[in-house]
Amino acid sequence: RSLNINAVSRVCSAPVERLGSNNIRLLQWNILSQTLGQHNDGFVRCPEEALTWQHRKYLIVQEILQTQPDVVCLQEVDHFKFLQTVLGAQNYAGIFFPKPDSPCLYIEQNNGPDGCAIFYKRDKLQLLGYETRILEVWRVQSNQVAIAARLQLKASGKEFCVCTTHLKARHGALLAKLRNEQGRDLIRFVKQFAGNSALLLCGDFNAEPVEPIYATILSCDLLKLGSAYADIKLEKQQQKVQSEPCEDLNELVAQSKEREPAYTTWKIREEGEECHTIDYVFYTPDQLKIKNCLEFPAGEQIGKNRTPSFQYPSDHFSLVCDFELLDESQTEV
Ligand code: NDP
Ligand code: CA
Repeated sequence: RSLNINAVSRVCSAPVERLGSNNIRLLQWNILSQTLGQHNDGFVRCPEEALTWQHRKYLIVQEILQTQPDVVCLQEVDHFKFLQTVLGAQNYAGIFFPKPDSPCLYIEQNNGPDGCAIFYKRDKLQLLGYETRILEVWRVQSNQVAIAARLQLKASGKEFCVCTTHLKARHGALLAKLRNEQGRDLIRFVKQFAGNSALLLCGDFNAEPVEPIYATILSCDLLKLGSAYADIKLEKQQQKVQSEPCEDLNELVAQSKEREPAYTTWKIREEGEECHTIDYVFYTPDQLKIKNCLEFPAGEQIGKNRTPSFQYPSDHFSLVCDFELLDESQTEV
């Protein structure tokens, strides 16, 4: 059994270029809550031993550290202290915000509530401030949260904001509507926090690109966001064929939908196999240029039992993106 298959195969396709001081590497990952993964999720094809914290914790740390991200956004964190200690020794500082009524707390062998976390590289970035939010749906607090942080690149003094969230899970039209409302509240929260600063907005949105929230986020007038994994495909296509940039917002959203990756989570529960794209890295293209995105392992690398597994500690894959924070002179007015 090799623990390193995931690490090695993904690192080979990792962006090698780290360029100048205005480059920001972001890692976005739902790491799978230890309590939920082991006692609640029902991953019927995953060996029990692979789900133990003893086994998973080093794989999680390894996956975070192997690409040396500047900013790390995590969901389903229920071992924040452990991550803070281990990542702390590797020059990261972190913020944690738990869900108000985490389902972990209803499971006997829990390690506290799960929540979102943001870590950043202390030697490269300075934390200027942060805010947390319990997302509201029709003005009532839900059980989902967000963290927004303002960071400054020490070398250039330039600032940007990063925000992460984990929206309500499960299928159904009503839940899609609820997620859309959480998205609207998230937009209000992050706009109020970030103003017109460069913004990275990422997380487990629990929504495929066809859900209303995807268009809500991408067609939002307040923020003017793009989706990193979709846009990198566009960049590569445009390098081959010179095409006119599209002006119609609905058309842009439709094109972005088409270019999203085939999956960001792949698991097997009792009810069957689930292979979906529900995790995203959104960003403000006027101020940030997407340079590279780390590809996901292919089906045959993942294996027939899918994830989690001895190789992959979570049922979600990590999204890793390289951005360049543009100078004001490079940005569109
Ligand atoms: P969500 O519906 O957002 O989901 C909670 C977790 O379940 C997520 O991390 C999600 O993972 C995971 N999940 C998604 N689909 C499945 C599935 N098919 N089977 C198992 N797990 C799945 O939860 P809420 O935050 O809204 O919390 C749930 C509620 O449970 C809380 O409000 C709490 O009050 C409540 N509760 C639980 C009780 C209990 O005894 N269990 C008792 C009373 C209340 P992902 O996002 O990766 O899909
Ligand atoms: Ca989960």
